[in-house]
Amino acid sequence: MPTNQLSAIAATYGTPVYVYDANKIKTQYEKLVNGFSVLDTRIFYASKALTNLHVIKYINSLGCNIDCSSINEVKLALHAGVKPENVLYTSNGISFAEIEEAVEAGVHINIDSLSNLEKFGKKYGHSYPVGIRLRPNIMAGGNLKISTGHNKSKFGIPVEQIAELEQIVKDNNIFIRTLHIHTGSEIKDAEVFVKGIEVLFDLIPHFPELEVIDLGGGFKVPYMEHEKETNIAELAQKLKQAFADHPLANGKELQVWFEPGKFLVSECGYLLAEVNVLKQNADVIIAGINTGLNHLIRPMMYDAYHYISNLSNPNGEEKKHMITGYICETDTFASDRMLPEIKEGDILCIHNAGAYGFEMSSNYNSRYRPAEVLVKDGEAILIRRRESFEDLLKNIV
Ligand SMILES: *Cc1c(COP(=O)(O)O)cnc(C)c1O
Repeated sequence: MPTNQLSAIAATYGTPVYVYDANKIKTQYEKLVNGFSVLDTRIFYASKALTNLHVIKYINSLGCNIDCSSINEVKLALHAGVKPENVLYTSNGISFAEIEEAVEAGVHINIDSLSNLEKFGKKYGHSYPVGIRLRPNIMAGGNLKISTGHNKSKFGIPVEQIAELEQIVKDNNIFIRTLHIHTGSEIKDAEVFVKGIEVLFDLIPHFPELEVIDLGGGFKVPYMEHEKETNIAELAQKLKQAFADHPLANGKELQVWFEPGKFLVSECGYLLAEVNVLKQNADVIIAGINTGLNHLIRPMMYDAYHYISNLSNPNGEEKKHMITGYICETDTFASDRMLPEIKEGDILCIHNAGAYGFEMSSNYNSRYRPAEVLVKDGEAILIRRRESFEDLLKNIV
């Protein structure tokens, strides 16, 4: 997005503010659609990455389905006007009551524990096709905290419990439509998905009514300059080949579902913040900005790298800076970062902030959550007001 447009948004709506570029979301979605055109695929946007209703509506308007991680995300998707048959609820560690609610809503469900599957079978028997989330025991992902498929992970039903799983399915005559795995986030290597599908191939014969293989999300986007995003076309070819090679899957015409979050909305997002104070340290300038881990926790929680630019002085002399937040915690966005010289009052732009940015924000230190702006067809629209003091008090009795 052009720098002057970002600066204008900061001037109009104040800082800190999240800005999302609808065009970028569309570009990413088209990469998925074109790349996966060689397979029978359905894409479900993992809305937990960024749940603003306007973003869900926009993504759905492109033709994309919606994946949810909680019953409230299901309600948000339905509230946004998404049809129940285009909503998927991939749960983990939830109470059975949420699964009942999801059934009432008529959305697709992936169940991730044997106990919930058994309750589901007792109540619904064969009447409601359902998916099961499996744990394939594959290690993948950018950071242990975002790896979900390894053999110590809490996510999914461990594949080694297949006998027990099969018994529950048989005893209750459950209609298993989908086998699901999600191995983690920031997976560049197509081989990880191929490995995943191979684990599933061994299980396919156990579920004769199977219609769908759901390979989850986790496609990588570049955060650093030298990094590459997951090559979707290459991945699609590899999966197509894996299907063709596998005698058990042959002729079954299984549909393949994906649940990308970050891939769709990471790069569309910018967090704009103003420099409150400068402190000169030995050989580094500390720039304190008017945001912190209350608004973007990825650098502190995952050691994530986010590219930062100085909108106010893009061509200034490069100096070594440390960019820190205003929260009473060590909330460092970047250390030893060469940036055009920063002055108090400058507007900094933190890039790649669309996914798990606003979404993981909090009111820590009794700060307000920032405003959100969507840029669509060249026009900037406010899609969430900045919080105010009343918001901090509204649930206090
Ligand atoms: C978080 C999550 C995703 C999306 O992961 P990304 O890394 O954002 O693509 C997809 N599926 C499930 C089940 C998830 O929990």
